[in-house]
Amino acid sequence: MPEKRIVLLGPPGAGKGTQAQRLCEQLQIPHLATGNLLRAAVANSTPVGLQARPFMEQGKFVPDDIVIGVLLEAIQAAKRANPGGYVLDGFPRNRFQAEALRKELQRRHEKIDKVILIDTPDGVVQERLSQRRSCPDPLCGAVYNLKTKAPRTPGACDLCGKPLVIREDDRPETIRKRLAVYHQQTEPLLKFYRNQGKLRVVAGDLEIEAQYQALLDLLKTEQLVA
Ligand code: AMP
Repeated sequence: MPEKRIVLLGPPGAGKGTQAQRLCEQLQIPHLATGNLLRAAVANSTPVGLQARPFMEQGKFVPDDIVIGVLLEAIQAAKRANPGGYVLDGFPRNRFQAEALRKELQRRHEKIDKVILIDTPDGVVQERLSQRRSCPDPLCGAVYNLKTKAPRTPGACDLCGKPLVIREDDRPETIRKRLAVYHQQTEPLLKFYRNQGKLRVVAGDLEIEAQYQALLDLLKTEQLVA
């Protein structure tokens, strides 16, 4: 199959990370999540991490030049490691980032194949994120939900055993801010990609398994999955 370049769009808490991770395991291609890359940079106190940290803690966007740099570097590394394509999760998040991505791919005679919106109402996002617990280890990064995907041992990561935490930006006040930023800055991308004929939509208020099946069905219809 040719290289697949897929973008998952949706508000925070739509399930982009969970679905992207599964999809990438099945397709054997890298999952490039700017949130994860930035959190790892923060945890390692790299220059990028030190710059990004205050924005992330307040639920604000990290400045475009920083995020675009991080993402393009990750795409390069992913291409070297796996020529099969990649799934982008959490990028682009505004028009400027989308244009930067398009220009960079165009320069290499490449393009995004499909952009999939995981369409999730604000109420569902608020409920889900308030139940979210995360592994603080940047090398693990596992995510749980107290209602729908609880860890086997309460409070501990199934994969590495570290005590789970509430992400700073999953606190109720910050969730409200992140949703407002999503509606203002990321939602306009739906029109941008719809006009290019690339946008497809799956319902975001399903359980994890049902949502994954809906995503796979869509990608099969689009002939991106066998
Ligand atoms: P996420 O894990 O995708 O929810 O991202 C967590 C945080 O990382 C966001 O709230 C932003 O502060 C930052 N971030 C991740 N991706 C981007 C992006 N494409 N543009 C700006 N900030 C980002």
